[in-house]
Amino acid sequence: MRIVETARELSDLSHVVKQGGLKVALVPTMGALHEGHRSLIHLAQQHADFVIVSIFVNRLQFNNEEDFKTYPVTFEADIDICRSSGVGALYMPSSRTMYPESFSTSVEVSGLTARFEGASRPGHFSGVTTVVTKLLVTATPDIAIFGQKDFQQFAVLRKLVKDLDIPVDMVMAPTVREEDGLALSSRNVRLSEESRQRAVSISQGLFHSLSLFQSGIHDTQELIEAARQTCIGKIEIDYIAIVDAQTLENVTEAHFGDVLLFAGTIDGIRLIDNIIFCA
Ligand code: AMP
Repeated sequence: MRIVETARELSDLSHVVKQGGLKVALVPTMGALHEGHRSLIHLAQQHADFVIVSIFVNRLQFNNEEDFKTYPVTFEADIDICRSSGVGALYMPSSRTMYPESFSTSVEVSGLTARFEGASRPGHFSGVTTVVTKLLVTATPDIAIFGQKDFQQFAVLRKLVKDLDIPVDMVMAPTVREEDGLALSSRNVRLSEESRQRAVSISQGLFHSLSLFQSGIHDTQELIEAARQTCIGKIEIDYIAIVDAQTLENVTEAHFGDVLLFAGTIDGIRLIDNIIFCA
């Protein structure tokens, strides 16, 4: 596995790999890799011959300084995971490499970023779209893989790629969960044992709502209320909404493919999750 630290090295490497007739996939991450990230790598390997993983804790997308400072960093373990997973190249730029002092550009997607994570975390999506644009331009992958866990992020990035005519196929990987249903997240390590117990009510609420949908209840107020009742008192709820998967507009009747979005906080730790209504 090649470890590269500059944009130039990465773009040269990708160019050579593609000239050799191989298909390249990119898996952008902020490190502290877990089974969710590993599943993205496996999916990337099914779609491409050569997988590039990027690890960069992107300060621009943190609207909260404390969250940035306490974000887990486990570079050595991350390198081992990538190596043992058959990753072709690991891109680990420093902050200075990614954002030199003279850096003054930002990439903005309007509309889809206005609500939910965009409203609760001002500046977050601009940080995400700026860094992902840089990664796509540098790595020039044929395919880029992102998790359903960050559903709004995927919708925003899909729009970015479409609007800017970036020639990459965007693939969404399913959410990997703990046995009890809690979605894996790098931030979970910051939960106390007691908070961890309460956190499981998020996925319980989502799956309760899903089972109501599957039993024929499609009224969104009822479906949202079912999720809310499961979490209430355990989590400080930021939003629960049922939206169209493309536009992220609220729907009044839930249909197959619509998405239930959840965000909340436990002991100051923000957790998000979602489910797609399916049979
Ligand atoms: P992060 O390192 O948290 O920025 O996440 C990097 C990528 O991994 C993003 O595309 C996330 O959506 C994805 N991801 C994070 N958690 C999970 C999970 N539990 N299952 C699947 N993908 C995930």
